[in-house]
Amino acid sequence: MSSIPSEPEFEQAYKELVSTLENSTLFQKNPEYRKALQVAAVPERVVQFRVVWENDKGELQVNRGYRVQFNSALGPYKGGLRFHPSVNLSILKFLGFEQIFKNALTGLNMGGGKGGADFDPKGKSDNEIRKFCVGFMTELSRHIGADTDVPAGDIGVTGREIGYMFGQYKKIRNQWEGVLTGKGLTWGGSLIRPEATGYGVVYYVQHMIKYATEGKESFAGKRVAISGSGNVAQYAALKVIELGGTVVSLSDSQGSLIASEQGFTPAHIDQIAALKVARQQLDSLASTDAFSGFKYVAGARPWVHVGKVDVALPSATQNEVSGEEAQVLIDAGAKFIAEGSNMGSTQEAIDIFEAHREQNKGAAAIWYAPGKAANLGGVAVSGLEMAQNSSRVSWSTEEVDSRLQDIMEAAFKNGLETAKEYVSSAEGALPSLVAGSNIAGFSKVAAAM
Ligand code: GLU
Repeated sequence: MSSIPSEPEFEQAYKELVSTLENSTLFQKNPEYRKALQVAAVPERVVQFRVVWENDKGELQVNRGYRVQFNSALGPYKGGLRFHPSVNLSILKFLGFEQIFKNALTGLNMGGGKGGADFDPKGKSDNEIRKFCVGFMTELSRHIGADTDVPAGDIGVTGREIGYMFGQYKKIRNQWEGVLTGKGLTWGGSLIRPEATGYGVVYYVQHMIKYATEGKESFAGKRVAISGSGNVAQYAALKVIELGGTVVSLSDSQGSLIASEQGFTPAHIDQIAALKVARQQLDSLASTDAFSGFKYVAGARPWVHVGKVDVALPSATQNEVSGEEAQVLIDAGAKFIAEGSNMGSTQEAIDIFEAHREQNKGAAAIWYAPGKAANLGGVAVSGLEMAQNSSRVSWSTEEVDSRLQDIMEAAFKNGLETAKEYVSSAEGALPSLVAGSNIAGFSKVAAAM
């Protein structure tokens, strides 16, 4: 466990994992895994560095950069970079820790890591972002490599930032290698990588719905609340709409946009995507003709404002569903909750979802899927991007999408079957996907270690 006094996010993620392992028969069956847990709780390596860059006024700026190389038992460290003012070592350790087990659940050979900086891209010009990325990669380049550590994007890091960093890496090393994923299509990226996390969440929930309703229901006709409006939320929304569901909300750090009865259309999502590229907030849309009938709620997350919903997909950031909001979602009729974000639910919210699942039979219960299972499509297609780079080929949209669908199905079934094997549940209750996924991901890593 942590030896630094205050790492609240990391401690939350660690305790969440451990509580599910302890409540199962895993350690009885594999006593040696206790030692593996103790070892796995400590990152193999943490790199921290200074990034000095110059803003458009010619003033020197300084930020903290990090890379947490958490676990390489399964392969090169793999995980995104987050650029956000809240970034600190506790947040990157929680993200890196979750990434280890998420990556294990993809079935691909990837270790776990995470990195980033307390740099705020909001309000910065393209030129400032480029300068920061160049400065960041100048330091990071000596610690990463296609077979060592392969970063990608996360909050605040899109294809544009990956491009600036990839260019700098190539310049410093004088070699083209698949050292970053989430690259553009013309310079080594994979088709479907931008869509993968959002699509993957929806593919995962399709299996939840099918299993819980014994094949009777699908996304068609379901009301779906989504938080966030970045890459994950946008593509989750588009896939829900394609499958016949109604998207009733999206949000950003300033507030929530609640749709009229018909929900968001793909044209609405296109407008939001353009807004994001221009680094603007959702509130500017609420008063436009295209969004007439929509409601903007300033300073609030969507959950208590969406009314009756069937599915909730938190897709913004960590701890974005509180215990009270979890209860409101249950009261509003939500039956499926799956995280597009990492650690989207607080422990209180998870406890409420899990208690409801245990106390209600089958489809009458809410069924919760944690981010490390439901959102693994992003890093899974990153793994496919690495495979394409190594073999110097590009797969078609159909090929990548079909592999993504297979990976999401396998991850769902793995969590489900592992829960049945290791966790006792009340008669008629659905298996715990959070416990099953934690045990399946951890066991793979422990065995490899
Ligand atoms: N940031 C994403 C995640 O949380 C993707 C990481 C990657 O593609 O390496 O899984």
